[in-house]
Amino acid sequence: MIVEGIGVSIGISIGRVFKIENAKLEISPNLIENVDDEINKFHRVVKDVIKDLQELRNKTAKEIDESHAKIFDAHIEFADDPELLEQVEDLIKEKKYNSAYALKEVSESFIELFNSMDDEYLKDRVNDFKDVINKITSYLLGYNNSNIKSINKRVIIVANDLSPSDLAQINKENVVGIITGTGSRTSHIAIMSRSLKIPSIIGVKGIINKVKNNDLIIIDGSKGIIVINPSKKEEEIYIKRKIEYEKKEQIKTTFANKKTLTKDKKHIEIAANIGKVSDLEEAVKVGAEGIGLFRTEFLYMNSSDFPSEEDQYQSYKIVLETMKDKKVVIRTLDIGGDKALKYLKFKKELNPSLGNRAIRYSFSNISIFKTQLRALIRASEYGNLHIMFPMIATIEELKKAKRILKECEKELIKENAIIKPEYKVGMMIEIPSAAILADRFAKEVDFFSIGTNDLIQYTFAADRTNESVSYLYQPLNTSMIRLIKYVVESGHKENIWVGVCGEMASCEKSAPILLGLGVDELSMNSSSILTIRHLMSELTYKRLKKIANDY
Ligand code: PEP
Ligand code: MG
Repeated sequence: MIVEGIGVSIGISIGRVFKIENAKLEISPNLIENVDDEINKFHRVVKDVIKDLQELRNKTAKEIDESHAKIFDAHIEFADDPELLEQVEDLIKEKKYNSAYALKEVSESFIELFNSMDDEYLKDRVNDFKDVINKITSYLLGYNNSNIKSINKRVIIVANDLSPSDLAQINKENVVGIITGTGSRTSHIAIMSRSLKIPSIIGVKGIINKVKNNDLIIIDGSKGIIVINPSKKEEEIYIKRKIEYEKKEQIKTTFANKKTLTKDKKHIEIAANIGKVSDLEEAVKVGAEGIGLFRTEFLYMNSSDFPSEEDQYQSYKIVLETMKDKKVVIRTLDIGGDKALKYLKFKKELNPSLGNRAIRYSFSNISIFKTQLRALIRASEYGNLHIMFPMIATIEELKKAKRILKECEKELIKENAIIKPEYKVGMMIEIPSAAILADRFAKEVDFFSIGTNDLIQYTFAADRTNESVSYLYQPLNTSMIRLIKYVVESGHKENIWVGVCGEMASCEKSAPILLGLGVDELSMNSSSILTIRHLMSELTYKRLKKIANDY
């Protein structure tokens, strides 16, 4: 039987099913006799949970990285929330509820509060909160030893739901695949399984009832396909595919730190997209030929308030220093649309992606914009800085952004700051009005970077976050090819380089076409760099031109 889900971590695995069935936590409203004993038990259990979470945090920091470990900081904060603990204690005292029942009552009111909030970030945190409450409850009820820890043979885990703490407990040598019944592409479980490099498929409704322990199962994480109890023939096909896949992966590793060259030795520039300083590690490891897009909004999203000029300066400095003389494109704040800040209440807009986002937000909050520009200019002395403005729609906007940048530069010169004035200034081409006027924009900047994610969204008038119009994500539609071609030609007429930093750059089907259209640089997530570098080594430049021409 074949079932499908969302493939979130690539690779093919063949193995035996190991079901994780979270015991249904039956919480009875039984009353207790000794209030003090119950309160003590409650605090003791909470302490145990916090201690275990702390251990999971350390294990995750060691085996994955610090940013994933932070998930557990949030869990610990919830488990240690004084208000939650006090309210549970009060209920035990007042109503003589057993602690699990008291916790259930209190947590339900917390969850209601989370759900009623306007703030999307806090709403999202409700799942973390539920995870923690479930953990405390299962410990209170004596189920504190999940069987996940005891896995000692190579298996594919099948669960309806897996929490980050479940996943953090596994021994990754023994888990060759993960399938869950719930989850989305951006859920913690998806992100963690990718980092652990375990082929995974999530969002497979009812999977837990479709398999038995020890069933033979195949998963293809790239395609989101699961084959339950495969026939001999299916098994053979997948074993072959697995060998091919692993061979390809092995070959790919030999492309790390090499120049990207086509078969006929034409050099192609492949840069990395990063969102935070720690992403540099992977970019350097695969030998990115520059940073083609630093999405600085993540600096803002991952802090508890607007990052100061000094904090930003330090981050930009590290990126520039690490990349030495290689090109580093740092994009100014692109907030709004689907990217929110937890400490900032955005005015509700009917069409947020058409609203006050990116450069528009910076213009309406000049001091925040200037803080960032000052940090960037100050960091310019440490490398090959390229400042890039997002979501430019008109020439006036571009001129305004450049004017403000110059103002900041003058201020800094007055303050005797050391700067390297030859930093470059460019813009994203991600709004059709900018693509159509690329010939004029090209006279005003040092480079273009085409943001195909938004350019597609705005060209097709199809919200990039709305599943029901996702069929309109058509990167190779003639309308897109014409726009890209025009932007490249316009840029080249003015002798400026043109890159692509949207997802199209990392797609094996579209990357050759972009290069054939004359794009000078492809910038992508570091995890795609070796795939694209390998692909290029198999194609001649002539062939790239031909592929593009056929479109
Ligand atoms: C894009 O729009 O293609 C892009 C690279 O920017 P973001 O995905 O951050 O909007
Ligand atoms: Mg964009």
